[in-house]
Parts: sequence; C-alpha cells; structure tokens
Amino acid sequence: MRPFFLVALLFSVAPTVASAAEPRPNILLIVADDLGYNDVGFQGARDIPTPHLDRLAASGLRCTDGYVSYPVCSPSRAGLLTGRYQQRFGYEFNPKWDATAVTHGLPLSESTLADSLRSAGYTTGAIGKWHLGAHPQFHPNRRGFDEYFGFLGGGHRYFPGSVVEVEIGAGKKTTVNGDAEQNAPILRNTTIVPEVGELTTRLGEEATASINRYASSQKPWFLYLAFNAPHTPLQARADQLARFASITDERRRTYAAMVATVDEAVGRMLAALDASGQRERTLIFFISDNGGPMTKRNANASVNSPLRGQKGDVFEGGIRVPFLISWPARIPAGRTYSQPIIALDILPTALAAAGTTRDSKFAALDGVDLLPFLTGKTNAAPHARLYWRMDGGEAFAVREGNWKWLRTYQNAPQLYDLFTDLGETRDVASSHPEIAARLATAAMDWNRGLIAPAFGNNPFGGLINRTGLEKDLAP
Ligand code: CA
Repeated sequence: MRPFFLVALLFSVAPTVASAAEPRPNILLIVADDLGYNDVGFQGARDIPTPHLDRLAASGLRCTDGYVSYPVCSPSRAGLLTGRYQQRFGYEFNPKWDATAVTHGLPLSESTLADSLRSAGYTTGAIGKWHLGAHPQFHPNRRGFDEYFGFLGGGHRYFPGSVVEVEIGAGKKTTVNGDAEQNAPILRNTTIVPEVGELTTRLGEEATASINRYASSQKPWFLYLAFNAPHTPLQARADQLARFASITDERRRTYAAMVATVDEAVGRMLAALDASGQRERTLIFFISDNGGPMTKRNANASVNSPLRGQKGDVFEGGIRVPFLISWPARIPAGRTYSQPIIALDILPTALAAAGTTRDSKFAALDGVDLLPFLTGKTNAAPHARLYWRMDGGEAFAVREGNWKWLRTYQNAPQLYDLFTDLGETRDVASSHPEIAARLATAAMDWNRGLIAPAFGNNPFGGLINRTGLEKDLAP
C-alpha cells in the first residue's frame, strides 16, 4: 500500500506545482473620462502624442469597434463594473450628488467585478472617479474594493481651490467653483486627505504606488483606475501646457495637455509593472467611458472624427471609444481587432482570465468572455447584436454586423452601413426596410428585459411607458 500512496500523493500535488508556475493574472482597468475617439496616438491623433498608450496598444489589441453601454459617465460605469446592461436595473441617468439619496447609485442587488475578484482571493483597489452613488452604502469599500483613493462624484477640479468654468453649450460657460461635487473631498477609503498638486498626476502616482505594493505580495490584484481627465474643467499643469504651445486654440491646448498627463501617468504605471516583472501576466484594459463632448455641456475640445456625434448621442461618436486590451502572456501583440465588443465584456473576460466565476445567485450577464475571440480560438463575432437605450427610451440603437440602426424619440428610424459609411451620413432605412424592421423588432425584444429608470429627472426619462414606446417603435 505504501508505494501506491506515494504515487497518489505525487499526482495530487502536481496541479498545485503547475498553478504555482503560472500564477493568476493581475487585472488593470484604466478608464479615461470624455476622451474623444480620435484624441490618442494609437487612434490617429496628430496633435496629441501619447507614446505610453501607443506602447500599450502595440503590446496587445487595438479594438476599433469597442463600445460602451451608455453615452454618459455614470450609467456607462454601472455597466462596466457589473457586466450587465445597466437599464436592466434602472440605471439610466447620472445620480444626484447627494449623500442622502439612497436610490441614486449602483443598486445593492448588483455584484461588481471587484466583488467577484475579491471573493477569488484578489487584492482589489479603486482609484479616481467613482460616480456610482454618493450615499455611504454605495462607497467603493462596500462594492468590492479593499482600498479606495479618489472622489465620489462625477467630476473634480484638478488643482486645490481652483476656480473653474465649464461649457454649458452655445458658447456659454458657468463657474463651478461653488459646485459641491467638483469640490468634494479627496478620500483615502473614508478619510479626507489634503489635496496636493494636479489631480491626474496624483491619481497616477497613487496607482503606481499601489502596483508596487501589490507586486511585492503573493496575491494577484485588480486595480480600477478611473481618471476624470480629460473631462472638464479644462485645467492642466504649466509644464504640460508649455509642450503644446503650438496649438493655438487655448481649449484644445489645455485638453491636449490633460490627455498627455493621462499618458504620462500610464507610462509610470507601465514602468512599475515592467520593473516588478509582472507585466507579462497583467491583463490591461484601457477605455473611455463615453465619446468626447464637443459642443454640449462639459464640452472639452475633444475630437471624435471620423465618427458622427458626441457624448450623449447614440451615434457612434457617443458610444464607440478608444479601447485597448493587452495581456502579453496570452493575447497576441500588435494587432487590430474589429468585431464589435462592449465594455460589458470586460467583467466576464477578467473573471475567465482569473479562473473564477460570478456567484450564480446574481442575475445573468450581458457581456461575454472575449478570450476565445481575442486569442484566435474562434473567428466568430462575440455578439450577434449590441443595444443601447437612453433616457428611459428617448433614443435607441442597435449594432448588428455592419448595420447600425437608431431611433430617437423625435425622429424617424435611421439605418447606416458602417462598413461603407462609418460617419453615419447616408441613411439607408428606406432602401433596406426589411433590415430596419428586423432591428426595430430586436430593439423592442431587448427593451422588454429592461425596467424604467430608477432615478433621474430628464423630461423624457420615466415618462415613456414601455407599451407606448413599443407601439411608437413598431415598424
Ligand atoms: Ca464621461
């Protein structure tokens, strides 16, 4: 019996040895705020060099058709961190900046990427903009993050005590120096810390310090770094502004300096990862939370060309964003991936990479694990269709292959062929009525799985009941 026992013991320890040789990947999720589709080097920007982000792109995949699930900040983040179309749980507007608003935030019925990774033994950290509810019950420390450094609102001034102005459309500006949300305290977990220096730089320093600290432990880690740059207010460090002196438009110059500061911070993080020896086994995502706002409130001099539209639109310029995925150990480098994907896919992809799953008691995901698609195991499209609904039904959009169907409450349905008309300039709904009808039906079918907005005060939001809407949308 004794020799047999020895053999059995050897076999039983073998998997442990193998998994120790191939540790679980770290996951780094970097989000920019209101970054234009064409405002980084890897997307073609000429006036804003982003060498570090370009290096990140070269180390993995540039996803040309990478979308977010909503064209403004907060609902987009609710989808990102849950892997679910956020309208399924009533998240369709930015929440009020109000620490007593118990319904204005990510519902406690939802599970986050951080919840799952923490349960799987990951160290979890969030840095930067939260914007998923100001009530204490929504604090990052209660949503799966061991550590938090940042501010809880939807935006923040970049310099302590600075007076800031934001565009409110039609060339008008408003001063937000007295805006409590822009001036909210910087927190380390729940403790207020002094504001020091320029905020994007500071967030990058915190992230780099976290990476260095995490890398020295034996545990895998997940870091969610949500820059508020280049969201308004337009403010940047003097040395970065000086680099862009050749840009004559002052707003574009400041915006460029802000994007360059994000790039510099990413460069420091990549250097820390390289120095730690963990770069190969770190899965990195980089996205913007929505398209660049060009003329509306919070316009920041961004450029979404060649896409039509901007933040707040279901045209491509509102929802298609710079989107990078890099994991040197598993995903081939230097390629472009052009099947439609969505930020909802980040959660299932990260969990699959970590070898874990979500607690099955939570409602089903909409995102899919992208790894079989990104590693070439299959050439199929990850999604048959992607869907958008805005403001409780003010606008809808569907992407199916090369087709983009959209409908706003005020206008007739439109259909575009994105393969031949990326800029959505030629509505072909009348020449392809059967396709327009199919996608309208698909939008209605999808809409049945959504609920009315749980909060928000848009004039359309919550006022359109689904029965009436479906009647209105019927082909
Ligand atoms: Ca945003």
